[in-house]
Amino acid sequence: MEKHYCNCYIVPPNILEKMKNDNIITNEVYQRSSEISLNVISARKKISEQLNGFLPTNPKGTAQRFIYDSKNTAKEHFELVRQEHDAAIADDTANQVFDNCGRVRDFFNQEYNFFSVDNNGKNMVMNIHYEDTFLNALWSTKIDQMIFGDGDGVTLGNFAAALDVIAHELTHGIVEYTSGLIYTGQSGALNEHLADVFGTVVKQHYKNQNAATADWLIGDTIVGANWPGKAVRSMSAPGTAFNGDPQPDHMSHYNNAPDDNFGVHTNSGILNKVFYLVANGIPPKNDGTSKKDAVAGLDTPLAGRLWFESLKNIKSPNCDFRGFYEVVMQTTQTLMHENVITRVDALDFIKLAFGEVGIS
Ligand SMILES: [Zn+2]
Repeated sequence: MEKHYCNCYIVPPNILEKMKNDNIITNEVYQRSSEISLNVISARKKISEQLNGFLPTNPKGTAQRFIYDSKNTAKEHFELVRQEHDAAIADDTANQVFDNCGRVRDFFNQEYNFFSVDNNGKNMVMNIHYEDTFLNALWSTKIDQMIFGDGDGVTLGNFAAALDVIAHELTHGIVEYTSGLIYTGQSGALNEHLADVFGTVVKQHYKNQNAATADWLIGDTIVGANWPGKAVRSMSAPGTAFNGDPQPDHMSHYNNAPDDNFGVHTNSGILNKVFYLVANGIPPKNDGTSKKDAVAGLDTPLAGRLWFESLKNIKSPNCDFRGFYEVVMQTTQTLMHENVITRVDALDFIKLAFGEVGIS
């Protein structure tokens, strides 16, 4: 299978462009971000031999963490500052990345029996203090590493401390090693959706929250005073995370514009809404002529389990929203046979939840 590379940013570049146009960030900061992909790709060639030289290549890895400090340069894999079994160091950012990466790794291993991004114990390489005033964090499939900027302290920052951001980015790694969903159009939006799902599932798990008590925000701790809203995305109410948030919550508002790889971070809102409804339930309806009772949700742990099994069951890298709906229905049936899902109305409920956003 041909490999399709992507740099999966937590803050979509077209949203940063909007911040530039609104004079929230400077053109220089925006431009710097837009050049990052070239630096990463050219750097890969230089470090490829080095990577093979000291990272274990045995088939069953041990998912060790390696934290590198870019020292505010555009070089990843620059200076190793902490690795597995090392004690905490003076740099809080390094320790936060180390701890959060471990939490995400342990969650997938303990809850879903899936070890590291490749389920083969691949080592986890994280680069911190990347560039100067770099307002983003990303997973690069070109180098299979995460990269964290420091932000500017007023618009965006604190990426290393954000568990949802790290879970989101590492899920891109899992998708890369399972279905390899192509990062454009509906398959790309499905890829983004799955990353947001496990961003919130992991965060809710460690915060001891459930579907009813969680805020369902992605990136609420990375936005600063100058960010025009409360988070980067809202899964319960897509399109409301910030002023100008372009996310739709229904197929009738699907965005076909070409920017952001045909809206991978935009149209993911439609599927995010489905997951929220499956976890939290469907509210009652009364439009004057007909009345429908509320339907209870599966809550986040079981909805997360269903979504993770579905993620593994996606067969095509071009899977679209409707294809994913079929995968979730089949996976629901499997989990019912295994008595993981015990409610008899589960298939009707899943069908109803997808129907709420116009997918049938
Ligand atoms: Zn992403």
